[in-house]
Amino acid sequence: MATKVTIIGAGPCGILLAHYLLRRGNYQIDIYDRLSDPRLVSFSTYRTYPLALCERGLSALRNIPGLEEAVKAEAIVVTGRVAHLDNGKSRYLPRSKPVYTIDRTTLAIALLNKLTEQYDLSQVKINFDCQCTRLDLQTKTAYFENKSQTASNSEFTVSYNLLVGADGVRSVVRNSLLNTKLFELEQKYLTNGHKTLYLQPDADKGYNFQAGKLYGWSLKDGTRLLAVPQLNKTVSCILQFPKPENFLTSFSNVQEVLAFFQENFPDIRQHLSEEEAKAFLEKPVSRIMTIRCNPYHYDDSVLILGDAAHAVSPSLGQGCNSAMEDVVILERLLDEYEDNWTEVLAQFSLCRIPDTHALSELSDYAFPLSKSLVIEWLLRRNISRVMHKLFPKYFPLYFSERAADTMDSYLEILNSAQGWISKVRRENKKILKKL
Ligand SMILES: Cc1cc2nc3c(=O)[nH]c(=O)nc-3n(C[C@H](O)[C@H](O)[C@H](O)COP(=O)(O)OP(=O)(O)OC[C@H]3O[C@@H](n4cnc5c(N)ncnc54)[C@H](O)[C@@H]3O)c2cc1C
Repeated sequence: MATKVTIIGAGPCGILLAHYLLRRGNYQIDIYDRLSDPRLVSFSTYRTYPLALCERGLSALRNIPGLEEAVKAEAIVVTGRVAHLDNGKSRYLPRSKPVYTIDRTTLAIALLNKLTEQYDLSQVKINFDCQCTRLDLQTKTAYFENKSQTASNSEFTVSYNLLVGADGVRSVVRNSLLNTKLFELEQKYLTNGHKTLYLQPDADKGYNFQAGKLYGWSLKDGTRLLAVPQLNKTVSCILQFPKPENFLTSFSNVQEVLAFFQENFPDIRQHLSEEEAKAFLEKPVSRIMTIRCNPYHYDDSVLILGDAAHAVSPSLGQGCNSAMEDVVILERLLDEYEDNWTEVLAQFSLCRIPDTHALSELSDYAFPLSKSLVIEWLLRRNISRVMHKLFPKYFPLYFSERAADTMDSYLEILNSAQGWISKVRRENKKILKKL
């Protein structure tokens, strides 16, 4: 008889897991997601964001025939970043290996399309508009609310033997583990806040972006703007500022927003319409929540993966990549323990937690807020590149490139970068105190 697995969350991690389990044969999958099918509703550009997939994420896709190609067909190859300097000049910083940027919802759609193309309803059922509200771990029952407007009976339950929570940073599955013995959870809001901005440049005003490059600006107080040009010539931007109570939150009208961009980011201002400035003004500041917990499983019946288990700061661009790597590691354990889930769940927590906790540390403190340390970071990276090229055996890539371009474990990478991470932690704390 097929092993039935209930997956909560049809994000990149949940859908990829379904692909991996179904190709083993002898699995039957039910997926539940609180949102509507993203292929059927038009999604707002304001609510999604571009993310970068590097070797870790791509190799997880590569294991499923056709999946890497399907995702790459929707993505943009990024070869480097254009850093705008205070003196008005810019400098191009090439990456050692390209990454692929794709917005989070388009990625989920590409994975979903392949899943439903390859498997029929007897193998996988995807239930959208179904929000998991809680688990009863003793009776192995998941409680749901049907959010679709046509649902007559809005609450229902599902019995499970094996349930995987891939339900993101605010995971209900993880929160159900809170009352279990020995479960530890640390959730933290990063001090910085961000707002997204979406530009639809007017061809008459000139278009000074190139798809395939990221564009970055930074201000003295640590505020940063990252622009990601898309193939259709629109530009997605993320404006990140070190504290959520920022001058940006005190703007009271569109003119103040436009004046701010004119003064600080004139290249962006020339493409910023009043309508987008208004949307920017009205948008609340988003804050990133990070998660560290232990263990990632309960008994022989529940597992959490991806952001549900280890949401990290996006600074290193590893959140989604590590969520996909979770699935690869789970498969390795399923092979090793011949699908004995009792063993696999316990082993997953044991072998994955040291690594993902290391990723959390790396992501929090990889990049300094102070300008002088940014220069030091660039110098260190450039020297590492040269030394690695000359003596690859003795000099590994710089830690941030190692995280993106290799499959080295995050723990190994953290160990090699401890000195730098401690220095950034110290300096960032000093700067944040002054703000
Ligand atoms: C601004 C920003 C930039 C980022 N940039 C990068 C980057 O460059 N590279 C990178 O690797 N990562 C990046 N990330 C992180 C990345 O987006 C996440 O790590 C990734 O989406 C995690 O995938 P997931 O499937 O675990 O969770 P999610 O993508 O959050 O998916 C969870 C799914 O579960 C569903 N769900 C939630 N609660 C319930 C419930 N109660 N019941 C049913 N369904 C539920 C949600 O609707 C969603 O579909 C970035 C994040 C942000 C915010």
